[in-house]
Amino acid sequence: MPKKDEKNLQAEVNLGLIGHVDHGKSTLVEALAGVFPDTYEEELRRGISIYLGYANADFRKCPSCEEPECYTTEKTCPIHKKPTKLLRRVSFVDAPGHERLMATMLTGAAIMDGAILVIAANEPVPQAQTREHLAAAEISDVNHIVVTQNKIELVNREAVANNYQSIKDFIDASYAKGTPIIPISAMHKANLDVLIKVIEETIPTPKRDPSLPVEMYVARSFDTNRPGTRPKKLVGGVVGGTMTQGELKVEDEIEIVPGLRSSGGTYDPLITEVVSLSAGGGSRLKVAKPGGLIGVQTLLDPALTKRNRMVGNLVGKPGTLPPAQDSMVLEVHLLERLVGSAKMQKIKKIEHKETLMLNAGTTITVGDVTSVRNDTIELTLRRPVATRSGDRVAISRQIERWSLIGYGVSQ
Ligand code: GDP
Ligand code: MG
Repeated sequence: MPKKDEKNLQAEVNLGLIGHVDHGKSTLVEALAGVFPDTYEEELRRGISIYLGYANADFRKCPSCEEPECYTTEKTCPIHKKPTKLLRRVSFVDAPGHERLMATMLTGAAIMDGAILVIAANEPVPQAQTREHLAAAEISDVNHIVVTQNKIELVNREAVANNYQSIKDFIDASYAKGTPIIPISAMHKANLDVLIKVIEETIPTPKRDPSLPVEMYVARSFDTNRPGTRPKKLVGGVVGGTMTQGELKVEDEIEIVPGLRSSGGTYDPLITEVVSLSAGGGSRLKVAKPGGLIGVQTLLDPALTKRNRMVGNLVGKPGTLPPAQDSMVLEVHLLERLVGSAKMQKIKKIEHKETLMLNAGTTITVGDVTSVRNDTIELTLRRPVATRSGDRVAISRQIERWSLIGYGVSQ
């Protein structure tokens, strides 16, 4: 295996945390990355993840320890006091598990290269969002999964074994058949060495092409200026996300599509410049590559990027991105049942004039169905999206809330 460059601070892979609310996703990120991913005041007050959470971690190996104890996130082996070797730098994308936040979960799924499905050992399996998140991962082409059976210290040995069997039956009846299931306690950091080993074996870093034109999915955006900063000292808005191809450098000119909504309701692409690039924790990059999460500081008015306003945009070199479209034709594939609901109702066919929510890449939009022909539907979109033919789009219908009902393939 080639030696990894410790100085390259950008992670090479995005690992999603998915699963039912309160099963321990954010706690597991904290156990592996050292920071709790819920940082917004509202999230801390309510004790749940509302937005996507992000944190980077290093998976490392002690050259002197035996397997699996050698797997760690520490730079120095706690036993031998010697430096450990970097295996892989990873970015975690922590999805909210609440049923009303499926749209946000789907935004995160669009940038996950693999996912850790967290299932609590002290609840019956599967819970509604255990099913719905796994279905969302399948629809979003997240094909490498590791399952954790969490909170094992809360139940006795026999209950752990029974719960493990229920998880195995559930997983083996899904597209993730054969996926490893690792018993852990995120809270007590138990068995995380085995989890790291299995993630390293199960979720590869995808091959990407830096020679293709830049394409970056925006999954968050913000204004980094403190309130009250003098206008002269204001810095430009920041967009954060993941590049799927190409390379981005400081001073590169970039285009953001669909861009800015005009007073007439249409969208105009934005052209701006890369002022600086970062890879979490304030670290600066000279060149950003496909892989883990990055932040791109621009010359945009920070009012445009504050509070995630730019989520759903694509970033590329001017003239290279697919244009934003106000309508879409989809070849539809519906799930048989409503996996996100306890009742598991049968899913009815899509009807003319129905309103649906679509997740295309990191974009969330609402569309009105203007025609239905066999399995092909046409929609007019309330917010345009930039997709290519063949892209998959997740489809949700308002049933108590926006519930995942299937996907469409853009024609
Ligand atoms: P999320 O909604 O999946 O992100 O769940 P959180 O990480 O916010 O955890 C929900 C609750 O479960 C919190 O009170 C955690 O402290 C608790 N929790 C998480 N992991 C464990 C664990 O391994 N054991 C126990 N006993 N509690 C845990
Ligand atoms: Mg959480």
